[in-house]
Amino acid sequence: MNENIPPGYLNIMGYVDESEVNGPGCRAVVWVQGCLRECPSCFNPDSWSFETNQLISIEELATKILRNKRNQGVTFSGGEPFWQAYGLSLLAKKLKAEGLNVMSFSGFTLEELQSAKAPPDAKLLLAELDILIDGPFVESQKINSPDSPVSSRNQRVHIFNPALKDQINWASDQIEIHILKDGTRIVTGFWGQLGLS
Ligand code: SF4
Repeated sequence: MNENIPPGYLNIMGYVDESEVNGPGCRAVVWVQGCLRECPSCFNPDSWSFETNQLISIEELATKILRNKRNQGVTFSGGEPFWQAYGLSLLAKKLKAEGLNVMSFSGFTLEELQSAKAPPDAKLLLAELDILIDGPFVESQKINSPDSPVSSRNQRVHIFNPALKDQINWASDQIEIHILKDGTRIVTGFWGQLGLS
């Protein structure tokens, strides 16, 4: 699936700094490319393909995230972050060494990620996470609420770092619009979606 990704690189779909709707506080968000799940009403169907989108070295991405001192953490979204578990675990390690916290979404449940059927190196990434939001988006269980950190009722928030337990205060149905220097607009936060225009 990820055979086109050179060692030391990630295949990503997008990236923003200073998001306040994708996890605790102000954080960078990395949307990875590739997901097998094909959930009906997926908010990011362009993320399903495992074709190369943007290859970025882990080193370069870590530098980018750390350069913006307002980023207190990073969130991995997708796509399915656990199909690039090894690369993301290396990125997470670098960022944690500099004091950032790390959160990931996953369409897998925690139990699946801990089982023998998990994607390769899932345990390495799990070991680096402060927070995991698990489970796919299920439209029939959709939540539209200004105070829910998850988008559908089946999803769970696992807090592995007790220091963050009072910071589960973002709402998954808020949106943010980031306008980049080249005029590109990135819309994010509404069910965790990433939109480019
Ligand atoms: S797991 Fe997430 S990215 Fe993958 S199809 Fe489902 S909603 Fe879309």
